[in-house]
Amino acid sequence: MGAEPDPTAPDASTEAPVQVSAEFATDLPGVPDSLQRLWTPHRMAYVSGEAKSRDSERGCPFCASPGKDDAAGLIVHRGEAAFVTMNLYPYSPGHLLICPYRHVADYTDLTAAETVEIAELTQKAMRVVRAVSKAAGFNLGMNQGEVAGAGIAAHLHQHVVPRWLGDANFMPIIGRTKPVPQLLEDTRRLFAQAWSTA
Ligand SMILES: [Zn+2]
Repeated sequence: MGAEPDPTAPDASTEAPVQVSAEFATDLPGVPDSLQRLWTPHRMAYVSGEAKSRDSERGCPFCASPGKDDAAGLIVHRGEAAFVTMNLYPYSPGHLLICPYRHVADYTDLTAAETVEIAELTQKAMRVVRAVSKAAGFNLGMNQGEVAGAGIAAHLHQHVVPRWLGDANFMPIIGRTKPVPQLLEDTRRLFAQAWSTA
């Protein structure tokens, strides 16, 4: 007698669902510290080498990024005076940066138009992240100067860091690492699609 079709068996005729890649600390080499990310960049989209020649536009990743296409530049949205990009080194999944196009370091050097647009893009980024990922909270802010923690101090950038309850519970303490479960391009594409509707 022939076997009945197994209703739980995967149907080879249908396309596999889009997989969101996830990588975890135990699978990756390195020497983690409290700010170590688990995600290993598979595309060095806007950082080349360790050269820190970022005092000028030349070598500045935030100046180079808008010249690339959206995927290569990790760009979520392009505004008039400022743009929204994924952080290549996210503190949490969906960590966005709002940057003026102008290579300017200090918040007081922004024009009125840049100030307003960065504020509006920050609000919009929060709406988009909430719509896509149901973030429960955010950390917003700018580090002004290397002494204050700015990784690229010469070109200011507003951080939008989504937070979830329990997002940093035992992992940073026990594992001294932070989980970043989605690859940047997956997240960037979701945010870019949601930007027009959120
Ligand atoms: Zn720059």
